[in-house]
Amino acid sequence: MSAIIGIYSNSDVSKKLFYGLNSLQHRGQEASGICVYNEDGVVLDKGNGLVYDHFDDSSFERLSGKIGIGHVRYATANKPHVYNAQPLLAFAKGKEFALAHDGSLVNDEALRQKLSDDGAVFQTAIDTEVILSLVAKSYDGDIVEAIKKTMDKIKGAYSVIMLFDNKLVAFRDPNGFRPLIIGESADGDTIIASENAPIEIIGINDKVRDLEPGEIIVVDESGLHSYHHGDVKRQHCIFEHVYFARNDANLDGVNAYNFRRRCGEVLAKEAPVDADLVIAVPDSGTPGAMGYAQESGIPFAEGLVKNRYMGRTFIKTTQEERELAVKLKLNPLETVLKGKKIIVVDDSIVRGTTSRNLIKRMKEAGAEEVHFRIISPPVKYPCYYGIDTPSRKRLIAANYSIEEIRERIGADSLAFISMEGMLSASRLEEDVFCKACFDGNYAVWPEESDEV
Ligand code: SF4
Repeated sequence: MSAIIGIYSNSDVSKKLFYGLNSLQHRGQEASGICVYNEDGVVLDKGNGLVYDHFDDSSFERLSGKIGIGHVRYATANKPHVYNAQPLLAFAKGKEFALAHDGSLVNDEALRQKLSDDGAVFQTAIDTEVILSLVAKSYDGDIVEAIKKTMDKIKGAYSVIMLFDNKLVAFRDPNGFRPLIIGESADGDTIIASENAPIEIIGINDKVRDLEPGEIIVVDESGLHSYHHGDVKRQHCIFEHVYFARNDANLDGVNAYNFRRRCGEVLAKEAPVDADLVIAVPDSGTPGAMGYAQESGIPFAEGLVKNRYMGRTFIKTTQEERELAVKLKLNPLETVLKGKKIIVVDDSIVRGTTSRNLIKRMKEAGAEEVHFRIISPPVKYPCYYGIDTPSRKRLIAANYSIEEIRERIGADSLAFISMEGMLSASRLEEDVFCKACFDGNYAVWPEESDEV
């Protein structure tokens, strides 16, 4: 789970990258990095921590340049060592290759082994370096051909941004698991990013669109060039719309806010309950709670106060950290909850830690009944495509029935939206989604790699 951004401009991009990365901070808080081209060649600055913590005015002086890429990282695998921060940089065949990646390969280990057997030496533990190594190894004077050869070998989820030879390059896997958006301004700036927020914030509002699954983009002084490679089978991560993306995200034809709100409406029809108030687990649960309130006619209220300076609880590294984070992050509002029957709308239940803690504390604050409503189906399977869901033994819905989960989290009632209900909330005519963490139907399985 990460965010990437790349900008090709006629003016300095370092601050634009900084602000763009800041708007994508919800996708990863462990490390951040920016890499630009200037007269000295490629300049890279990265480290652990938030974007605002790592970069300062002296960074922008060093990072001056008109083409650049950036990354924020949450470690889906491997330890949060700074050497795993991105972008990564390689020198090969007289060229500099800088690359950053959102997603996760399913054949990373087999490819790493084969590359190592061929003499490659790796400096990081991340699959991004496998992609970088393959692109550099495949390069023979044509970067697009090198990427196509790389795409033939790597399997899984990858949205990639690169700096190469004074060009901005991006490519997206043929399933389109992870999002990637491009926008162009009237005066020639191009920005490519994991979500549309930085494109809108930086002010590039023209021609905003998704990269197609299997699309390769090269931006250079002659303009923007698009190529396509691979057998496209759309598998856009539906969890992006449920939880990860910002409420203002427009990804692959779905607006996250509208999707979450409609899920709430569907849930109110599928799982009605008598109550005094509907409240949300903010922020991704808020549109769902508003939709539930509107459809049910039960008033919406703010019942949990959020500490906005905390990271997301789901993406803390240890269980202890996660439990403490829940307490720090959300505090029940006694004046609203006392003596009331409450419907709480949340985006998902993964381990059950957050839900159990919240319900306990809402009841301590005087809530008479707490009815939990979830805008996604039960998460029963791990994700191999870049979202840090735990193994099956830690997924509460993989091990317990809905009634058992209700008991364990201490809710008076519990209901999840149906798969059909969630899909209908997308308002898309076709099912273009990966839903493997709910139904176990993985489009790409971990397997041995083909020959490197
Ligand atoms: S398994 Fe779940 S979280 Fe992973 S890509 Fe598919 S829908 Fe998204």
